[in-house]
Amino acid sequence: MRRQRSAKIVATLGPASGTPGQIAALFEAGVDVFRLNFSHGERADHEARLLSIRALEQKVERPIGVMADLQGPKLRLGKFAKGKVALKLGQKFRLDLDAAPGNTHRAPLPHPEIFAALEQGTEILLDDGRVRLEVKKHGRDFAETEVMAGAELSDRKGVNLPGAVLPLSALTPKDRSDLAIALDWGADWIALSFVQGPDDVAEARKLVAGRAGVLVKLEKPSAVKRLDEIVDLADAVMVARGDLGVEMPPEDVPPLQKQIIHACRRAGKPVVVATQMLESMINAPVPTRAEASDVATAIYEGADAVMLSAETAAGSYPREAVAMMDRIVRRVQADPNYGAGLRTEMLAAEHTSPDAISAAARQVADTVGAAAIVSFTNSGATALRAARERPSVPTVALTARIETARRLALVWGLHCVHTSDVHRFSDMIQKATRIAKQEGFAQKGQRIVVTAGIPFGTPGATNVLHIAWVND
Ligand code: PGA
Ligand code: MN
Repeated sequence: MRRQRSAKIVATLGPASGTPGQIAALFEAGVDVFRLNFSHGERADHEARLLSIRALEQKVERPIGVMADLQGPKLRLGKFAKGKVALKLGQKFRLDLDAAPGNTHRAPLPHPEIFAALEQGTEILLDDGRVRLEVKKHGRDFAETEVMAGAELSDRKGVNLPGAVLPLSALTPKDRSDLAIALDWGADWIALSFVQGPDDVAEARKLVAGRAGVLVKLEKPSAVKRLDEIVDLADAVMVARGDLGVEMPPEDVPPLQKQIIHACRRAGKPVVVATQMLESMINAPVPTRAEASDVATAIYEGADAVMLSAETAAGSYPREAVAMMDRIVRRVQADPNYGAGLRTEMLAAEHTSPDAISAAARQVADTVGAAAIVSFTNSGATALRAARERPSVPTVALTARIETARRLALVWGLHCVHTSDVHRFSDMIQKATRIAKQEGFAQKGQRIVVTAGIPFGTPGATNVLHIAWVND
């Protein structure tokens, strides 16, 4: 089974898509990586879904990626005596550490670290920015604010402080326990929410210890300010436009998306564009023109993957949303402007043999009109460098490590196959041509470009390029 598409699709599982049958249908429609969102749902549900994905993987004989998305230090308001209140523009509103249920004059905000970080004039956003408060007076355990915008406020709504860097670890006690479980289950990617800076990433990396890829969600202005350092530490990045668009004005998000994609492309790290991509398909079987255009834009900009959230987790048309995304991505790919655009700015190669071989493979494939590049990879590092070149033919990544095959499912242009190690040059060529043919990437009489490292089994030693003919 091969997909006719280079960019990948990530879909979030939830109540609308949790059964084995629903998961299989989403995979058939085009999902490459499934996201388990630990901000919602029970742990047992996530585990059942993960087991369904692994069972499906066996059945379809294709590696499938699983992303465990940790909730992170999401700040929330406490509760109201009547469940909700109506606020008036210009009125005073108090937030404090008192656990007593709130009313129209005050509400509990159970986060001492927020009060410690406030200054006069700090903006507090509630309910995805629908309510805006400005701090007039503050102390260790309270803030007096004025309502600058908004009306209704209800229990446990989210709180954003765009201007402040809070003394919070990116991992709460819940995150640490979810992380341990997700690693135990063998999740391929761990997504970190509300990262504030590089230290958060370094801390998480230590805990993950190479057992999964670390994907950093960029959703805070403080993290965006240190983009290059974060990209350097991360294994992958997500443009998390939902919270980013609350913490920053909406007009800042599109240029940032471009800038983040560019930084990741340069570094050769996979980048995912997420949130509200086909939002109206939560309730309708077709997207708006603007949404189709938004997905296409992310693809034209060179993203590795686009993501669906509520569309597949809780919407009425999860399968249609994936199929629509697949169609849009394939349509962009068929546009000659797409490939040309991706390669207008040739990225400088690093002075390493994997980069030298990857750049040469792209060029040789074009020159001899090869049907595909077949890249032997162990940790996946070489396949990432091969994908960074954005070659005009598909790349088949062969690996003896199933973890590598699953993780690379997120990466642009890679078709991963889990296969046994090779020990001799002739085995390598035979295996490469056989698999390229079997998987539908090359036919008898066509050529492929093979890259590998010799001596075999030495990680990071890619140093061979070979042109091979595909025979019977
Ligand atoms: P979320 O992250 O769906 O976990 O909030 C993505 C985003 O904020 O865009
Ligand atoms: Mn978010």
